[in-house]
Amino acid sequence: MKFLGKYLNSLFLFELLKGLRLTGHYFFGKKFTVFYPEEKTPQSHRFRGLHALRRYPNGEERCIACKLCEAVCPALAITIDSAQREDGTRRTTRYDIDLTKCIYCGFCEEACPVDAIVETREFEYHGEQRGDLLMTKEKLLAHGDKCEKDLASDRSRDASYR
Ligand code: SF4
Ligand code: SF4
Repeated sequence: MKFLGKYLNSLFLFELLKGLRLTGHYFFGKKFTVFYPEEKTPQSHRFRGLHALRRYPNGEERCIACKLCEAVCPALAITIDSAQREDGTRRTTRYDIDLTKCIYCGFCEEACPVDAIVETREFEYHGEQRGDLLMTKEKLLAHGDKCEKDLASDRSRDASYR
């Protein structure tokens, strides 16, 4: 009986028809391919992309050099040096993130008490030279200035869920 079944299967090419049915299903079915960069998939407002340092509306940098982000970073990607300013406040003199080490876990922004270090929605970046993927304080602040409008709006969406 088993032999007969095998014989009929090979005679009527059932296996081939089953394969063609599967091919047809994907050929005529809904396509999932995204033609990046012309097309892009929807992005969450909590997307974790390129880092930035934020400022307050008066231009003062938010970071108070508490180093919680440096301590929590599992990849040891953050390096901070700090000093006291003349007005008695403490600020970073160096804030580096090595993007070649970063795993984009978001722990740094979770740990930050003043919402200074954040991950933006920017994911289209690359490095061509040594040092391009080392985000210095200047680069982080400049990126924060560029993205501030979107960052503020994304954070207000988060607040509305609470
Ligand atoms: S996202 Fe994670 S790995 Fe990257 S710097 Fe922040 S804490 Fe470190
Ligand atoms: S970015 Fe936030 S957590 Fe990191 S040192 Fe500055 S204030 Fe502290």
